[in-house]
Amino acid sequence: MKVFQVISILSVLGMCSALPFQRSHHRNVTGVVGPNPDEIGEFFEGDIRFTDNQQIAPLTGILDQYWRWENAVIPYVIAADFTASHRSIIQGAMTDIMASTCIRFVPRSTERDYVTIQNADSGCWSYIGRIRNAQILNLSIWGGCVSRGVATHELIHAIGFFHAQGDVNRDKYVKIHWENITPGRESNFEVYTNDYVTDYGEGYDYGSIMHYGPYAFTKNWYPTIEAIQPNSESMGQRNAMSQKDINKINKMYNC
Ligand SMILES: [Zn+2]
Repeated sequence: MKVFQVISILSVLGMCSALPFQRSHHRNVTGVVGPNPDEIGEFFEGDIRFTDNQQIAPLTGILDQYWRWENAVIPYVIAADFTASHRSIIQGAMTDIMASTCIRFVPRSTERDYVTIQNADSGCWSYIGRIRNAQILNLSIWGGCVSRGVATHELIHAIGFFHAQGDVNRDKYVKIHWENITPGRESNFEVYTNDYVTDYGEGYDYGSIMHYGPYAFTKNWYPTIEAIQPNSESMGQRNAMSQKDINKINKMYNC
């Protein structure tokens, strides 16, 4: 029996080392090889929800001033079912953004438009920009969404940004492995060329906290996004905003 158990364990280990993701050292926000929590959602681009009049192109920064927060002030409410430590992680993400941009997160008093941060079991997701009235930004505790990096990522969606790999020039920088993408999730990897968004002249940014990692929406643990230019090691990072992330926010809000 013991021999059988040892053989079973060895064969499991053998299988693991043969799995393709062992060749990569990319680790997601939780330190595990694989997609980030915001790269496994059910919505448009994993973690983006659209209003009825936003069903257009995902690139990087939404252009229409209609979606901007007035004076770069974003009132917010954090739902009562987050613990004190969750709350401080979320507020830490806000502090990070405020430290390097002119965005101001303020606890909501009577403002009509605000972000309400909730903990439903529907993953990590946000709307893009200010959609009016109370807009949900969801950070599922059980979905692994309450980390400083993922909270920052979702808050930047609410500020007005899409994902970095939707950039109109992205095919010069990444190869999309369509054959490895979970069926039905291909739309997460499309590129659009219209007047809806801009990168504010910052250029492509592998290191953006808004860029997918190599295993976003993988169906088989082979990479779905392969960087094809140098200096891509940080692709998919959820640690902190890149300098280009910061620059783009400040340009969007004329800081
Ligand atoms: Zn996202």
